[in-house]
Amino acid sequence: MVMAEKFVRAIFPGSFDPITNGHLDVIERGRKLFDELVIAVGRSPVKNQLFTPEERVEMVAELIGDMPGISVESFEGLTVEYAAKKKADVILRGLRSLTDVQYEFQLAMTNRAVAGIETVFIMTSEQYGFTSSTLIREIASLGGDLSNLVPKNVYDRLKRRMSKR
Ligand code: ADP
Repeated sequence: MVMAEKFVRAIFPGSFDPITNGHLDVIERGRKLFDELVIAVGRSPVKNQLFTPEERVEMVAELIGDMPGISVESFEGLTVEYAAKKKADVILRGLRSLTDVQYEFQLAMTNRAVAGIETVFIMTSEQYGFTSSTLIREIASLGGDLSNLVPKNVYDRLKRRMSKR
């Protein structure tokens, strides 16, 4: 039997404040699974925000360049509403640890219950399992070395941001 080809569009929502090597790892893996991947930077106010949504989108855009099938934009409000607007088939999320699983399960089940949308999880490489944007912001504010945890463009921006404080 010949299966009909199905075009699958995924969104990868998050705060990305800032994008880390862990996020990039999930993006690299995700793009092999989907025909189109939209990285969706949430505009809702987050605790201890470091970069504006515009800056966060800019950093992601610098990293994805003109990779085919990948784009970035910001969104406001509910992820499932945004997913519907984009006609996305799938929500992509990354998993680092068992602690993530509990929260992500709840989120994925809620999203499926309210909007019928599936969530696909990608496990990060071991080396990024401990990387989080929250820790990046904390380490940066204390002047720590982040060169192994974030891409170069993010590192440079963090340095500039911190030197202004
Ligand atoms: P949120 O603010 O909703 O927690 P984030 O912007 O921190 O979202 O992350 C978006 C997604 O990326 C989440 O699914 C999160 O679990 C995942 N993620 C974050 N850091 C990593 C990492 N180091 N490795 C794999 N996935 C990650």
